[in-house]
Amino acid sequence: MGLFSSEVPTAQPVQRGGVDLKCDHCGHDRFYQGEAQLHTLTGTLFGLEAFEGSADYYTCERCRRMHWFQQ
Ligand SMILES: [Zn+2]
Repeated sequence: MGLFSSEVPTAQPVQRGGVDLKCDHCGHDRFYQGEAQLHTLTGTLFGLEAFEGSADYYTCERCRRMHWFQQ
């Protein structure tokens, strides 16, 4: 594995906070990465001021469980 770009997203091992991410549903360790813009309106509606801004999410390759991380 190395630094390369591909037009087809591939599932990759993920590390956040110095810890390898493992799916909390099925235990798989490869994920598709995405990024979402969380708008102020959404944060206001749900009372989640801390969630405003951008967030990364990782979708488990096996079971599609999404794991969110605030940037
Ligand atoms: Zn999973």
